Order: sequence, then C-alpha cells, then structure tokens
Amino acid sequence: MVMAEATVMATFTATTVGTVRSRYEQPTGLFINNEFIASASGKTFVVENPATEEKICDVYEAAEADVDAAVNAAEEAFKSWSAVDPSIRGRCLLKLADLIEENLELLASIESSDNGKPLKLSRIDVGLVANVLRNYGGWADKIFGSVIDTGDTHFSYTKREPLGVCGQIIPWNFPLLMWSWKIGPAVATGNTIVLKTAESTPLSALVASSFVKQAGFPPGVINIVSGYGATGQHISNHMKIKKIAFTGSTATGRHIMRAAATSNLKKVTLELGGKSPNIIFDDADVEKAVEWANTAIYFNSGEVCCAGSRIYVQEKIYDEVLAAFKKRAEQNVLGNPFHEDTFQGPQTSKLQFDRIMSFIEEGKREGATVITGGTRYGDKGYFINPTIFADVTEDMNIVKEEIFGPVVTISKFKTVEEVINLANDSQYGLAAGIHTTNINKAHHVANKLKAGTIWINTYNDFHHQVPFGGFNQSGIGREMGAEALDNYTQVKAIRIAIGKDE
Ligand code: NDP
Repeated sequence: MVMAEATVMATFTATTVGTVRSRYEQPTGLFINNEFIASASGKTFVVENPATEEKICDVYEAAEADVDAAVNAAEEAFKSWSAVDPSIRGRCLLKLADLIEENLELLASIESSDNGKPLKLSRIDVGLVANVLRNYGGWADKIFGSVIDTGDTHFSYTKREPLGVCGQIIPWNFPLLMWSWKIGPAVATGNTIVLKTAESTPLSALVASSFVKQAGFPPGVINIVSGYGATGQHISNHMKIKKIAFTGSTATGRHIMRAAATSNLKKVTLELGGKSPNIIFDDADVEKAVEWANTAIYFNSGEVCCAGSRIYVQEKIYDEVLAAFKKRAEQNVLGNPFHEDTFQGPQTSKLQFDRIMSFIEEGKREGATVITGGTRYGDKGYFINPTIFADVTEDMNIVKEEIFGPVVTISKFKTVEEVINLANDSQYGLAAGIHTTNINKAHHVANKLKAGTIWINTYNDFHHQVPFGGFNQSGIGREMGAEALDNYTQVKAIRIAIGKDE
C-alpha cells in the first residue's frame, strides 16, 4: 500500500545547535522507483540521537514484500540502465555529486545528529562522498575489455558486463560515505541496486537519495530500504539479486556468505572487522607518531574497522611514548558533536556503548592496567572516555577481538622480526601502521605485514583512488579505486572464427 506523501516525509530541524537552523524535510519512507513510499505493513522504527538519547523520528521498516518490490524495480531498470550509453551513467553520478556538495551543511548536520560524529568530521565525510561519486562518474565510460591475439584464425576479445541487481548492506559508522562507496562503482558499471542502511543511522542516506531523481537517474536504478538485520537477510537470500556487497562484522559476513551459498550463489564482497596493529619504532618522530596513534584509535569514536587498536612500541622509547600518548588522549575533547572543538562524539548506539563497556570490564578482569579512561563520560549520551590498556598479553580478548570503540592496547617489543610476528598474529588483516624514519625498514615491514592497507607515518589516511579491503577474515574484494569496478562487472569472452577469403 502506498501511503500519502505526507506520511513518508517528516518535517523537523536537523539540529538546534549546528549551522543548519532552518527546518527541512526528512524522508522517512522506503526509496523505490525514485519515490518515497511507506512500507507495505506500515511498520516503523525509532531513530535516536546518540548524544542526547532523544528520539529524532520514526522511519519505515522494510519487510520481505518491500525488498521484493525494490528488487523488481531494480530488475526492470537494469534492462535499460545496463544498455545505455555509459557516459549518461557518468553524468548522473557527476550531477549527484554536485547536489550532495550543494547540500553539504544539511547532510553533515543530519549525520552528526543521527550518528553522533562531530560536525567537522561529518563535513569531511560529505566532501568525500562527492569525491567518490565523481571518481566513479569519470570511470563510467572507461570500462574496457581487451583484444587477445590467438592467431589469425580467430578474433578473440573480452568485454566487462554488469552483474544485474546488486544487494548492498551498509553499517552505521560512516553512513553516507558507505552509501557512496557502494553506489558509485555499482551504478557506474550499469548495475542497479537495492541498498539497506543500518537501522541506527538511516537518515542521511534517505536525504541524499532524494537527489537521485534530480540527478537524472531513471526510476529503479537506486533503491534504498531501511530496516534491521532481517531486512538484510531477505536481501542476502534473494534469488533475483546477483551480487551482495556488505560492510559490517565478520560474524554477519559469515551469515551473508552462507545465504549466498544456499540461495543462488550470488557473488559476494565483504568488508569486515579488524584488529589493526600500529607499530612505533625507536627511530620514529615520537611527537608525530603519538599524534597518529591518537588519530588511529580515537578518530570517529574508535568506530572504524581499520582503527589502530593494537599499538606496539619498541622498548627503548616505550615509557616516553606511553607518557606522551596518555597526555594526548586526555586532551581529546568529548561532547556535543555540534561544538567546533569537539574531537570525539558519543558511540552511535546504546548497543555499541554496552558492547564496548563490557570489553573494558573484561580487560580489567583479565588483569590489564588502565592507563587512562575505562569509564563512561558524562551521564547523558553514549560517551566513553578514551581508554588505554597496558600490561596486556597477546591471549587477552581485548588484544584479539575487535572492540570498535575508543579502546586501545599498548605493548612493547624488541626486534623487527618480533613485531612482524606479533602484528600478523590475528584472524584479521585489514590495515596496519608503521612509524619510522628508516625507509628501508618501512618497506621491509610493509612487505611482511598481512593486511590490505599499510600506512607509513600516517593513519586512517584514505583516498578514493586507493583500494581498501581485507586480508584473512577482514574481507573479500576491494572497495574504491579501479579494483572496486572488478567486483561489479563480469568478463565475457567472445571468439569469432575468421573465414579465409579465397
Ligand atoms: P553487523 O555486521 O551485524 O551489521 C552491519 C549491517 O548488517 C547492518 O546494516 C545490519 O542491520 C546488517 N545485518 C545484521 N544482521 C544481518 C544478517 N543476518 N543478514 C544481513 N544483514 C544483516 O554489525 P553490528 O551493527 O551488530 O556491529 C557489531 C560489530 O560489527 C561492531 O562491534 C564492530 O566490531 C563490527 N562492525 C564493523 C564495521 C566495519 O566497518 N567493518 C561496521 C559496523 C560494525 P542492523 O542495522 O539492523 O543491525
């Protein structure tokens, strides 16, 4: 049942503190065929502001019938979208990027209200969203196959073709940025999509999707559904969906792979968890290394899959680094995401807050020493003080498991070979950091580390042209860069017998 438009749009103020003071229209419906509609059941769920614990609005929840409707729309749109002049696909993405940029302040304010990240980070995220969409807009008409010399009896060539309807499931830590990482390469290459936002942060993607029609995308190319894990399950199991791309926990990644295997063997790309080592050698610039260590773990409240959550410091400078890092962590300003000097906002949900606090309690029980933090900050909102654990052993859960919060362990090592072994001793392999002024050592260690991204004298330093993804159980496939395009196309080989001209 399609309800009146008034019921799928809520009018309210994004924030009373940020720069956006005017009221705006928040779509709350499902975005299918370029229209916001109510879910078939009319069921909604509550979206909350994690800094204040107050309700923002209700959003419609997609069940199986709604996912089917979105998939049918995407399947119909695929017929023409996959066949259109690719430069038209590029133009739509470029226009969407412009519209995102024109609405940067609004989108950033919504992101900060919904996710809790500081407004200055949200502004950066929205700028990155525009970069990603533009980059893939540029790629749309540059997807090439190859001609293969197989001798003069045949003409052999390959072309790259889209897969069909792609299911995409995104998390809550970078809601709008993940929307762009998923949408960009998929639609540039001629696929159509059904994307599910995370249940705790659906708002920014819904507003951004309201620009899709204006950007020139035909109905059904981009479809957005809000909902819980069950909605994601319908997508993963769907027989008409040809590929699933997921960002989230390794545990849910396993469910998705299983669903793909038992349904239609849809192609799978996964961007999962991490427990990334951040190594500080005794020849590093200590001041800069400490600054990067701070960014590596506390940026975005530690809700970053590649967070530098295991710090290893060479023994000669361990005490100096520990003292400097403690001081630096204690300088981080926590609080209202809309205050310009705030560095760390709340955790995005009560669920995540509780998970992190239980890891902290476990670390204490396991015998690790709390150097700083380890407690809730304030009594309203899901804030956690930046936490450092020392005196840890490699078998402790706080060293092995992804905490996904502002909690880091720090330990010392003696030799290069020892730290390589420590760093690689993980089920994960998403990223790693190296801090050294010795270029040979930097290259040697980078070559030996088992991770999809290595940052040297920097951290959390992304670029839309550089691929990102995991080794080991941190994932399958790559996002961003040219590599992401491979995950959204399949190779067709064509071979023509050449008759002899008598
Ligand atoms: P999940 O992996 O469970 O959720 C991520 C997304 O998957 C959400 O959209 C979620 O929906 C959806 N989902 C949940 N269950 C299923 C399912 N069975 N089939 C299909 N989709 C599903 O992460 P959580 O939010 O529960 O966070 C748990 C941990 O995951 C965190 O502590 C962190 O360690 C890790 N994580 C990693 C991220 C990364 O960037 N790699 C991002 C987020 C979390 P819903 O919103 O309803 O739960």
